[in-house]
Amino acid sequence: MTVTADTSTELTTKMFIDGTWSQAQETFDDLNPATGELLAKIANGSAEDVDRAVRAARRALDGEWGDTPGIVRARLLNRLADLIERDADVLARLEALDIGKPVGQPGMLDVPNAVATFRYFAGWADKIEGAAIPTAGYMGMAKTHSYTVREPIGVVAAIIPWNTPLMIAGWKLAPALAAGNAVVVKPAEDAPLSILHLGKLVQEAGFPAGVVNIVPGLGGVTGEALVAHPEVQKVSFTGSPQIGRHILQVAAQTFKRTTVELGGKSPQIVCADADLDAAVQGIAMGLFFNQGEVCAAGTRILVHRSLYSEVVERLAAAAEAQVLGDPFDESTTMGALVNAKQQQRVLSYIDKGKAEGARLVAGGSAPAGPGFFVRPTIFADVDNSSTIAQEEIFGPVGAVIAFDTVDEALAIANDTAYGLAATIWTRDVSQAHTMARRVRAGAVWVNGWAAIDPALPWGGFKASGIGRELGYSGILANTEEKVVTIVL
Ligand code: NAD
Repeated sequence: MTVTADTSTELTTKMFIDGTWSQAQETFDDLNPATGELLAKIANGSAEDVDRAVRAARRALDGEWGDTPGIVRARLLNRLADLIERDADVLARLEALDIGKPVGQPGMLDVPNAVATFRYFAGWADKIEGAAIPTAGYMGMAKTHSYTVREPIGVVAAIIPWNTPLMIAGWKLAPALAAGNAVVVKPAEDAPLSILHLGKLVQEAGFPAGVVNIVPGLGGVTGEALVAHPEVQKVSFTGSPQIGRHILQVAAQTFKRTTVELGGKSPQIVCADADLDAAVQGIAMGLFFNQGEVCAAGTRILVHRSLYSEVVERLAAAAEAQVLGDPFDESTTMGALVNAKQQQRVLSYIDKGKAEGARLVAGGSAPAGPGFFVRPTIFADVDNSSTIAQEEIFGPVGAVIAFDTVDEALAIANDTAYGLAATIWTRDVSQAHTMARRVRAGAVWVNGWAAIDPALPWGGFKASGIGRELGYSGILANTEEKVVTIVL
């Protein structure tokens, strides 16, 4: 299938509330990261629009949707997956256009992952069971029969970041809908287009009005109104630790259930016996895929001293080999960062790396010309306590650190506020398992980077988040457990 930049007839820019598309009083500008030019003016949802969306969701729950059996929810989710698959090319192009990533990447990951996620959770929709639990009876007076049921939580607010919007919208929508909730989605200001297109597919799939609502807008207004709304029972947030902390505080005022998926500073540990070809390729992918704008980016590369010089050299070569450019050019391997602010942020971290004494071995600057590009960058001889080893940069910047023993590698790996993911490169099976157990991270990969799947729970330790999405954990996180006891 030919993939081109032409999406002119496909941009959806309105809000989707209660099954209809409407314009907001105001709009905000959505820019093309590869050129800096205006892409679209997007409906900027107000607090009133959020209120309408939440009320529509509540009405859906109190009406037809609340009585829709799991098998019917499964059918709708499978239909939506089929429609995403049908529109795979359009959705991949929207992601490339809106975020600046090479179009092949959403074609390989974001879109197929969204399809797989909706299909996986369709499978759960009619299998959400409780249990009969034997007890000692009722105060010695009577026997009892007790059982549990899992019920939908209610209205779920899904707040989405800009780096992989379609995929993360799927992670939130699919389990919430499988479990029978209604959802209000707030896409990120920088990348709302794929999620708005998804709204069209939700409509076409035949979900009742109000079950899925999409209100684009600014975080501090639209997002804030959603998190504070008393009729929202759960907030599922993916984004930065700063906003995540704030959301937890606001949500606590009304005791909302919360799942927060935050940032990372994930280690890639290259043991002395590692397959170096595989490791270098995987590490480069973990650094430069999606321009490094990945929560699980493997940005701290811990290398056994015996391999250190070679790995530094080969990573520098891998960085130099990246082709920056038009996301729609087939030869492009790395696109633009999402906006000017992100570009400046990444460049300022590169300056800090230089100032703190790390050795720059590749990249380190922005190319001239339009668009928010930053060259793939590798620092060697990095001290793990330095800023570039401790703070999430969210750009194509790797920090290489030497170690002598496995204990030392694990101590460095765990010496971070974060705990989202880690990769271990080794051929020794027992070393792999022993190390995996000692790394404090929600996902540990051995001999590969980002082996994610909708069946596998996803979430962070420490500052990388609270709660889990995906897998059966995703169903648990979208249901309330109720116990019913009958005194016999
Ligand atoms: P962000 O925190 O700036 O924004 C995320 C979302 O929150 C956006 O939709 C934004 O509009 C909204 N928001 C902002 N202020 C808000 C408020 N006061 N109330 C409610 N909503 C508000 O994050 P970002 O820059 O879009 O994304 C990058 C961050 O996301 C990185 O830290 C990255 O690591 C993290 N991330 C984590 C995962 C994961 O699964 N753990 C996945 C992707 C991205």
